[in-house]
Amino acid sequence: MSEGKAPSGDSENKATAPRLEGVVVRTSGGRCFVAVDGRQWNCQLRGKLKQGERRTQSVAVAGDHVVIRALHPELDPPEGIVEEVLPRRNRISRVAARRSGGRREQVLVANLDQVVVVQSVTSPVPQKGFVDRLLVAAERFGVAGILVLNKVDLAPAAAGEDPWPYYRTLGYRVLHTSATTGEGIGDLVQVLTGRTSILMGASGVGKTSLLNTIDPDLALQVTAVGGKTGLGRHTTTSTELFPLPQGGFIADSPGLRGFDPWDVDPRQVRDYFPEFAQGADECRFRTCMHIHEPECGVKKLVACGVIPGWRYEAYQALVRDLEARRRENRPRP
Ligand code: GDP
Ligand code: ZN
Repeated sequence: MSEGKAPSGDSENKATAPRLEGVVVRTSGGRCFVAVDGRQWNCQLRGKLKQGERRTQSVAVAGDHVVIRALHPELDPPEGIVEEVLPRRNRISRVAARRSGGRREQVLVANLDQVVVVQSVTSPVPQKGFVDRLLVAAERFGVAGILVLNKVDLAPAAAGEDPWPYYRTLGYRVLHTSATTGEGIGDLVQVLTGRTSILMGASGVGKTSLLNTIDPDLALQVTAVGGKTGLGRHTTTSTELFPLPQGGFIADSPGLRGFDPWDVDPRQVRDYFPEFAQGADECRFRTCMHIHEPECGVKKLVACGVIPGWRYEAYQALVRDLEARRRENRPRP
């Protein structure tokens, strides 16, 4: 590893201070807060890391594993320098605001393990297509999708079709919880421990209440940063990781809440519906989108009820959305 050559300040410390590996929990104006064994280090990025491609926002983001030089362990918070950003296992990105003109990838979080989609049995009732959309995002980024159905202490509002067993047949883990009675909370803790997760779900489904049952302090912090709806308070879109008492992190930011999958080609969406594979073999066209084409194996599975209609509708809606977005973004002549 490179040593010395420090241009200014703390130079005598730089060569001798211990190197520690940690996780970036937050970035702010060129600084990173790095969690190392429960302590948060306030770190600057080493100058060299900021050069090259001018994508400063993405040099180090929440979730990045980094090596820091522990310059001032005696301070509170302790201070150091980020010397190295270790390779990312994955990253969740979105299309950044068009302030600078043009689309740009903005990395929201790195090294995510799972998307935890929270819905409630009632008040509010589950939104159509919401879960499917988030699961596409999870598939796209190669992370696990976990479904949490909260408020199981309440009776379901309407006698609609219960989609949850179906998701389970697709291989997604489904948890039933109640922040009120404590049902399923042990399972939730187990799923979150030692992993980096994002909790996604509409306002009012009980995300804060669930976190509260795990650790009141954690719930407080997440609420203070994100605001109850994810709409207020934040002026930036950077992500923050909140440490769980049992180990692991909850990632949160408005960017993650109003999430748009980055760079999903409408023609790829079909690959993120795992159950389409069996039908697709029987499509007349290999390029079949399973929408307008004749002799479509997937549509046959829908017609005979193997794939539920609501699931197929969610697919169509998502493709339509993404196609519309493509049209909007196409440069005008
Ligand atoms: P968030 O917006 O997703 O963070 O939702 P909150 O945690 O603020 O919860 C919204 C409302 O639902 C609050 O009034 C909670 O008390 C209530 N709530 C949350 N979890 C449960 C639950 O498991 N059962 C019941 N009956 N109410 C719940
Ligand atoms: Zn087809």
